[in-house]
Amino acid sequence: IDVKRIRNFSIVAHVDHGKSTLADRLLELTGVIKPGNENAQVLDQLQAKRERGITVKAVTASLNYTYNNEPYLLNLIDTPGHVDFSNEVVRSVTACQGVILLVDANEGVQAQTVAVHSLAKRNNLVIIPTLNKVDLPRADPAKVKAQLKSVFHIEPDTVLKVSAKKGWGVKELLEAIITRIPPPNIQSNDYFRAHIIDTWHDKYRGVLCLAYIHSGTLKLGQPVKWKSDMKQHTVKFLALLRPNEENITEAVAGQVVMVGLGPKGGGSVGDSLLSPEATNCKDTASVPAVRHMVYAGIFPADQSQHTQLSDSIKKLALNDSAVSVSVDSSPALGQGWRVGFLGLLHLDVFTQRLLQEYKAEAILTAPSVPYKVKIKGAKVIKHYKTDEVIVTNPLQLPDVNNIVEYYEPFVIGTIITPVEYLGAVNTLCIDRRGSPLPSSAVDEQMTMLQYILPLSEVVMDFHDTLKSITSGFASFDYQDYGFHASPLVRMDILLNGVLVDELTSIVHTSRLEYNARKLTARLKEMIPRQMVQVAIQAVVGGKVFARETLKAYRKDVTAKLYGGDVTRRKKLLKQQADGKKKMRSVANIKIPRNTFIDVLKR
Ligand code: GDP
Ligand code: MG
Repeated sequence: IDVKRIRNFSIVAHVDHGKSTLADRLLELTGVIKPGNENAQVLDQLQAKRERGITVKAVTASLNYTYNNEPYLLNLIDTPGHVDFSNEVVRSVTACQGVILLVDANEGVQAQTVAVHSLAKRNNLVIIPTLNKVDLPRADPAKVKAQLKSVFHIEPDTVLKVSAKKGWGVKELLEAIITRIPPPNIQSNDYFRAHIIDTWHDKYRGVLCLAYIHSGTLKLGQPVKWKSDMKQHTVKFLALLRPNEENITEAVAGQVVMVGLGPKGGGSVGDSLLSPEATNCKDTASVPAVRHMVYAGIFPADQSQHTQLSDSIKKLALNDSAVSVSVDSSPALGQGWRVGFLGLLHLDVFTQRLLQEYKAEAILTAPSVPYKVKIKGAKVIKHYKTDEVIVTNPLQLPDVNNIVEYYEPFVIGTIITPVEYLGAVNTLCIDRRGSPLPSSAVDEQMTMLQYILPLSEVVMDFHDTLKSITSGFASFDYQDYGFHASPLVRMDILLNGVLVDELTSIVHTSRLEYNARKLTARLKEMIPRQMVQVAIQAVVGGKVFARETLKAYRKDVTAKLYGGDVTRRKKLLKQQADGKKKMRSVANIKIPRNTFIDVLKR
């Protein structure tokens, strides 16, 4: 196919504005699927990502379409539609020249619309503004066109109107894709170069990659090498995704294809595939590395299930290139893993799948964000000398005496809210340590606010709180704003003077007293009384910020049994022994294991 007749595009939208439904209609019009209900949300089904109605992974469909008697190849690169996965949206658009900016004609411009629009702008993509759901009686296309004009300076006469549900206007949209979006800009006489935008795992074929070819041609059986390690492999599998695999023997620059190098061939998002002759390895594209926003520990409830849980985690991680897994251990919970996620929703989706896969009890520790510290002198990390250390687990914080500066991750949050909730929303943002950026009107009823917010204040329950204080009418999205210096301290918990490792946390100084008091009070509630009195202290740099005292008490489980029922008595003693196994002992104080997880929950 002539590259002039290739179009690479994505559909970007706020969640529920109709991306998946529109993708179905495009697939129908290009003959990939037959019209009918059993085909609902084909791309989503393909990845079995329907558990929570969210498309998690980027999926591609190469569509054939004839326009003015000429055959075109339209590559629809699907993107996930939730704030947690904005990182993946970013990766998918690196292979695109244009986007369909889909906006619900009822709801109008929402926070995520703003985020995906600015992403498209940053990547110099052609934007096809499209109003969806115009079949609904309450749809108000004129009003939403005015919003698009005031927020994005989009001219009303360039805006298309469709009903993805009814199929209205979809043919016109396909033609706009051909006439408005340019073909890929490629150098076909250069060596073969491609970058990887997605990977997944196949039991028999190993890692399969979704690759965007920047230059040259790619043939089945040809030798290629990875940019990351320069190791050479052979192209074993090559296919178009329509969206089902259609094997091909050759692909040209500008195309988006599935490539596999066999079970030992490897492949990871962001890497590039090059022809063996390619010596100049100039960057093929800047595919942003995955940024993990939330970390949590995962442990087997019983160490005998360690191998089984390990297998389940590995299996899931192979198909989710966005999680990071490293080994972790804790005195209370034993051997486990520290897992990094894109956000809380991602964590939820992953752990739900893990429980389905693993079919046994797993312990998930309270999630935390990554911190960064600058230390005295340089430290050698993976062959590089650096004086900065990323801390994904508060327990691994370097000695505080060596720390020069603390940094925490920040985001730029965008909120679109009806004006009547402005006061409440501003209060929430300031309460979460936010600093306001200029706000602007979307129209008479809606305002757009932007705040710089600490990620730690956002990941836990910001979105839910925002929804509840605005009766569900405000929308929220955030973008990474990097690490910034922040007055943080390490807070330790001592029981009768002995440090409890797993309760160490990193706290903002303005939250210190509140957190110290809350944590000690909750521990007092959660730790059962012991044979000795227990002092619970929250300590920062040797200074006690809160203290609770748990009175002594002797618990004799058999005391209330008199006389002879021996079996009953034995059973009770056994229960008590089993209970003890699930206890962690600090300074002879027995603490139920779940205390460590529950106490840090909000
Ligand atoms: P996504 O989150 O952007 O992928 O949105 P979906 O495609 O899953 O659509 C969200 C909801 O809106 C679903 O219940 C769809 O049936 C509905 N929907 C999508 N497009 C239309 C449309 O054109 N008209 C109407 N009435 N409903 C639509
Ligand atoms: Mg969807």
